[in-house]
Amino acid sequence: MSSPFVDTVVLRDFEHRAAWSLKFQPELEAEYHDSMAPATRRWVRMSVLLALSTVLGFAVIDHWVLERPASPVADSIRFGLQLPIVLMALFLTSEGRYKRWYVGAVTVGAPLFGIGTVILAATAPPAQVSLITGRILLAAFYIYFMLGLGYRRALAINCVLFAAYAGAALAGFIEPRTATYNLFVILCANLIGGAGAFALERANRATFLEKRRLAETARRDGLTGLLNRAAFDERVAVLHAQALRESAALAIVLIDIDHFKAYNDHYGHPAGDQCIRVIASTVRHAARRRPLDIVGRYGGEELVAVLYDASREHAESVARTLVASVGRLRMPHVTTAVGAVTISVGAAIAVPGESVPLASLMKRADEALYAAKAAGRNNFVIAGDPPTLGFPAL
Ligand code: GH3
Ligand code: MG
Ligand code: MG
Repeated sequence: MSSPFVDTVVLRDFEHRAAWSLKFQPELEAEYHDSMAPATRRWVRMSVLLALSTVLGFAVIDHWVLERPASPVADSIRFGLQLPIVLMALFLTSEGRYKRWYVGAVTVGAPLFGIGTVILAATAPPAQVSLITGRILLAAFYIYFMLGLGYRRALAINCVLFAAYAGAALAGFIEPRTATYNLFVILCANLIGGAGAFALERANRATFLEKRRLAETARRDGLTGLLNRAAFDERVAVLHAQALRESAALAIVLIDIDHFKAYNDHYGHPAGDQCIRVIASTVRHAARRRPLDIVGRYGGEELVAVLYDASREHAESVARTLVASVGRLRMPHVTTAVGAVTISVGAAIAVPGESVPLASLMKRADEALYAAKAAGRNNFVIAGDPPTLGFPAL
């Protein structure tokens, strides 16, 4: 039998992803970014404030130590390009704007900022070129670790900076031997920064995946892999509220194995467990046909399905299919009259516009199940209808 968890988004991701790939399947990828966003935003805001103080700090120290008299080119890059980019990034790290605008804007802003530093280096007196090139190394590490970007994007931005520096050298702005040495230093910084950023992102993703897997495990019943009672209660409450809001019908379908005490007594508890597993899998396939539908283990050998926006005909067809599918398994149960494992099903439907409290709907389904049992088992009852006696023959 396949793993009861085979349906989970985490496992589906594991199945499709190459070992070296950092990207998840699309639905998990979006969840990963959503889960990282709040902490990343706070980190990035702090980082951008740090960038602001370094831009201002370099303006002061450059004027004081390097530029006597002050260089108009350097000042226009500092105050006309780099400072506005940093202020723009700061503006976009506020809560309302971050998710929508930040990454796109920084993908344009960070290379422009870096190109500004390359121009500062290329237009500096020869003796100062390497001093200013040191700032490209700072920028490289800043882009890898402080801007909250994925490592691929950070790598791409750094490639642009490397190319800009090489371009300035080829255009003759930087003396060839100095340029060669500095390009090698920038390359090394990128190898170290890139490897670190890759490892960091990998670790973040592994932690996310592990947390997600644990959360998923906590929601599943260990024997059947269906939603456990707590997770079911949570989901059904959400679906019920949604159905009321959207005026959709909601059907609760309760399923109970017939004469299961006797099955355990005759075949033993481990065989009983296996029987519950097989029936759970059959029920999951027969009942969960649409994305919002859920199937859970309600307790013991009782299962439950919720069908969202289900017409009466649909709920009835599911109930009928469930009873018939389990019957078709023909699992021997020699102590019963039919000689096979069967189930009884009770369903209740809240039609659109009828605001039945969830507890009442569950109670109606339970009474329908009781009626199905009283009518002889191996059948289904829709609340409010008479039992479908004698259905279906095995
Ligand atoms: P009915 O047709 O009226 O449903 O009769 P029943 O014997 O099935 O009665 P009931 O539904 O009350 O039986 C529940 C039994 O299911 C009792 C318990 O031993 C058994 N059971 C509950 N959980 C498990 C389980 O996890 N594993 C096994 N093997 N048995 C379980
Ligand atoms: Mg039973
Ligand atoms: Mg029972």
